[in-house]
Amino acid sequence: HADTAMYLAKERGKNNYQFYDAQLMGVSTRKMQLEHAMRRAMQQEQFTLQYQPQVELGKGELVGIEALLRWHHPELGYISPMEFIPLAEETGLIVPLGRWVLEQACRQNKAWQDAGYRAVPIAVNVSVRQMKEEDFVAMVQEVLQQTGLEACYLELEITESIMQKKERSAGILNQLRKAGIRLSIDDFGTGYSSLSILKYLPVDTIKIDKSFIDDIADPGDQGVMVKTMIDMGMNLKFRVIAEGIELQGQADFLLRHGCRIGQGYLYSRPLTARELELYMQK
Ligand code: C2E
Ligand code: MG
Ligand code: MG
Ligand code: MG
Repeated sequence: HADTAMYLAKERGKNNYQFYDAQLMGVSTRKMQLEHAMRRAMQQEQFTLQYQPQVELGKGELVGIEALLRWHHPELGYISPMEFIPLAEETGLIVPLGRWVLEQACRQNKAWQDAGYRAVPIAVNVSVRQMKEEDFVAMVQEVLQQTGLEACYLELEITESIMQKKERSAGILNQLRKAGIRLSIDDFGTGYSSLSILKYLPVDTIKIDKSFIDDIADPGDQGVMVKTMIDMGMNLKFRVIAEGIELQGQADFLLRHGCRIGQGYLYSRPLTARELELYMQK
């Protein structure tokens, strides 16, 4: 937006710098509005979770569930996590919000198990900002205890940005793993130091980012990155998951090259808890 505005301003002459200012204001006003609204949103129960199935690519069998945060504001409408999570990280609100997500996801997964659905792990996204908290590991264990969910049915998704503090991060991840919690690297391949990261981080699973799955049909790429990541992941004994699978051709390609688990609109969009129950009944 700002770039376009600047361009227009240059094109039309000096007076239009006013327009440029207004555009900038627009961005920061929205940001302030959202920051303010987010603080109330927790008390007013505007946040919910959706659940996306992770499936065995060949049979379509459910092997896991990813919990995804949703925010519906009464006036502003639906706001994407891509927009509000960075703000929540900036303001620190991700700490209480992330705890709420964890509690909700663990409680729901336990309820499904108690209701007789097949037990699968639930994956919860965790921001680096949350892991910077002194008591992060204790907090996670407390939530497991409160909700009664066994540690092996919780998976935490972290991103490569965790590598900013290698030693401390590896320490925390080791503690989580010792507690029996599963760990995965989300959006794998999009951060920095993608390869060396695998030597330091005690994770079980890598999730190949959607952008690489999109490349499978690209004549200039033909999935060469995906093949390489699957190979490397398997050689290093990681579970490999593909995210953002939309086409049968992508699933076929992944299976042919040894990736057996994935998630994406081809199988299911993220669902409400009730919708996932219907999905599991089929
Ligand atoms: P992510 O963890 O990589 O989640 C995958 C995103 O891809 C989700 O977007 C999901 O709805 C979307 N997706 C799944 N399959 C497909 C597909 O086949 N095609 C397309 N086009 N998209 C697909 P969503 O829910 O908008 O979340 C965006 C990001 O926001 C997440 O990316 C994650 O980084 C973050 N996020 C969501 N919930 C939380 C949370 O509770 N805590 C934190 N820290 N971050 C969260
Ligand atoms: Mg994720
Ligand atoms: Mg991802
Ligand atoms: Mg992503």
